[in-house]
Amino acid sequence: MRLIEIFYSIQGEGPAMGRPATFVRLAGCNLRCQGCDTDDRPRQELSPVEVIRNIRSPMVVITGGEPTMQMEELSQLISLLHRQGSEIHIETNGTNPIAEDILEKIHCAVVSPKRGSDYNLDFWAEKKNVHIKFVLGKASWCWTPELLREMAPILERKRTWIMAYGTDQNMPEARDAWDLALSLGVNYSDRLHIRLKRK
Ligand code: SF4
Repeated sequence: MRLIEIFYSIQGEGPAMGRPATFVRLAGCNLRCQGCDTDDRPRQELSPVEVIRNIRSPMVVITGGEPTMQMEELSQLISLLHRQGSEIHIETNGTNPIAEDILEKIHCAVVSPKRGSDYNLDFWAEKKNVHIKFVLGKASWCWTPELLREMAPILERKRTWIMAYGTDQNMPEARDAWDLALSLGVNYSDRLHIRLKRK
């Protein structure tokens, strides 16, 4: 598998916010979101078995880049993690649906649809282990309050999240995301890893 890094940290956003996990960050992405803060160039190549040897916690977050770009190896990794009893989380932009038999091995998939892409909302929204996380912001791939108000009625509230865009440690847009989430009755996600990063 082409990897950017494997590291141990605390999940800073989404439904597992605050929980310790091993992060497996896979290289490559099929989208080019303006201002993307992920350097998705591969830095190492490991087999799924070798990745497993680097897991240091009960919870594993597979992220990217876009992890579904390596679907075959990703499916092998998920099956191996499932077999050893790991709690598996994945973060994806939703453009590549994951096969049902693999998806059911995942404890929680967080789909972050990018505006203007083909994010398969109908497929993901009906899966009970999937949370949808919208990034609120001014970039072309982010969501506006108007669009999210239109979309909210078709989404299950307890599995819908709104998070502010940005890598500024003060998170100046967080209050807008908080207010919108409150008015729509959906979840607010902070970005703790951004707020708490060392200077
Ligand atoms: S989908 Fe995510 S990783 Fe890919 S370009 Fe967009 S923000 Fe970056």
